[in-house]
Amino acid sequence: MRFVTAFRQFCLNPRVLYIYFAVVLMVPNFFLFCTEPLSAWSRVVYLLLPLSVYMAALTIWRKPGISFWVLFLFLILGAFQLVLLYLFDRSVIAPDMFLNLVTTNSTEAGELLGKLTPAIVGVCVLYLPALTLGLFSMRGEYGLTRRFRLRAVLVAALLGVLSVGAALMARRDDPGFRVCHDIYPANVIYNMGFAAQSWHRTNNYPATSADFTFDARPTHDSTLREVYVLVIGETSRAANWELFGYDRPTNPQLSRVTNLVPLRDALTQSNTTHKSVPMMLSAASAEDFDRIYREKSILTAFREAGFRTVFLSNQRPNRSFIDYFAAEADRYENLRDRLDPNDPNPLDMDLLRLFDDELARGAQKELIVLHTHGSHFNYTERYPDSSRYFTPDRIETIRASEREQLVNAFDNTVRYTDAVLAGIIGRLDSLGAPAVLIYSSDHGEDMLDDARGHFLHSSPIPSYYQMHVPMLLWYSDAYEAAFPDAVATARANAPRPVSTNIVFHTLLGAGGVETPLFDPALSLTDPRFDPRPRTWLGPYNDPLTLDELNLIPSDIDEFRRRGLAFP
Ligand SMILES: [Zn+2]
Repeated sequence: MRFVTAFRQFCLNPRVLYIYFAVVLMVPNFFLFCTEPLSAWSRVVYLLLPLSVYMAALTIWRKPGISFWVLFLFLILGAFQLVLLYLFDRSVIAPDMFLNLVTTNSTEAGELLGKLTPAIVGVCVLYLPALTLGLFSMRGEYGLTRRFRLRAVLVAALLGVLSVGAALMARRDDPGFRVCHDIYPANVIYNMGFAAQSWHRTNNYPATSADFTFDARPTHDSTLREVYVLVIGETSRAANWELFGYDRPTNPQLSRVTNLVPLRDALTQSNTTHKSVPMMLSAASAEDFDRIYREKSILTAFREAGFRTVFLSNQRPNRSFIDYFAAEADRYENLRDRLDPNDPNPLDMDLLRLFDDELARGAQKELIVLHTHGSHFNYTERYPDSSRYFTPDRIETIRASEREQLVNAFDNTVRYTDAVLAGIIGRLDSLGAPAVLIYSSDHGEDMLDDARGHFLHSSPIPSYYQMHVPMLLWYSDAYEAAFPDAVATARANAPRPVSTNIVFHTLLGAGGVETPLFDPALSLTDPRFDPRPRTWLGPYNDPLTLDELNLIPSDIDEFRRRGLAFP
């Protein structure tokens, strides 16, 4: 009994609470200190600077419980951060994490929650006792003495001065070092602000792009019927495509298609849908992302040049640029807008129904964009039972021991995409008119591929599997007859390392749409094609070269093993 009383007194001792609260607040920093790639001096800042701030903040009220509860926001950030570390092993909360929350639909979020249970339990074990003791401290009568608070502030000030010195040294070693980018939790607060600003700019897009024009004009013979098709894939990865060297028959139909130009070394510039897809649809790229707020998409460029433009989607609108761009089309239809209660899960093949009636209208010049659902989790929902080729494919839980089912289901989605693409190509072929199709996935996917055990995509630092995307171009015989040079040039350029930033310019080039925004160096069919060193869209919409991405060595080995250019 005496022991219990003594323990209670110990726990409620304001000095003990003060130290305990400071340690609890520092826990995310201890973890990130181990996981983040930091220079020696920035490591010093990583611990001393937040500690000095927390130490000072915890002295503001006499009862440390009050100060601790006032810092509640930092506990929320800490919890979010620790869960994220559990999921991805490293990285602070990036601006995209906040944007993904508003652009991701609830079923996707639900799929993740199950996997996160251990992390959520851990966070509760860490924070709930501290918050409870904070309440006791608030209600109790004991507080910190004036003398203790004064000393604590002095120590905090000393640590603050030391961390400013360390920050200057860190800056000397790495001029890119910034407390607001590199030190938790300053960076997460900065990232929240950045995300809010991006969200605001996206919402203002109709106003900021209102006066934009491509000044586009057609250069091809006006009597020629022409159809251009862009198929945007979802979460498909090149590593699982037979066309790109996979050892399973995932491309039985495309393997037999003639006039196909596979681009075997194609990388995406972002592993999130809401950024990658708009970069394919517009002139914005990782190298120059901000122009997206002023400019319009490929649909307007073709429209200005006299083409009928159509956007057919099997993805729910997600409040991103994809929605704005889709709305630029003469016809925009979304299979998920008005769901048939008897068929709540439209398949990509259902898009072909809309595609057929569009082709039947017989527009002289036409651009059709199809936004597919491709290989997005849950994989088994992406194809009908009749397309269960690789079995067993029923996924109960996501774990290494059931990886076989997971990969089988994913491979079935690739095989189904193969059939969808072959279906579109067959239809275009039978038109007997010049036609070009470009297909590219928006990003790849992790599927418990290695010891990291990562799953899905959009991690702050991508993996090889998220970056290498299937991309291909197909042209009709009539197109080759009309534009033999464009076809020969595309074939000659196909082996070169490219990024998804070539999609927009290649469509313009192939379609003969002239605009001052056209960049021949990014058009596969142009003799001036000269893709630049590849970059990735960084967290602040800045371009990062591949070697600035801090990929782990096994990912870089994967690039090398497959004969892909790196960096
Ligand atoms: Zn995506």
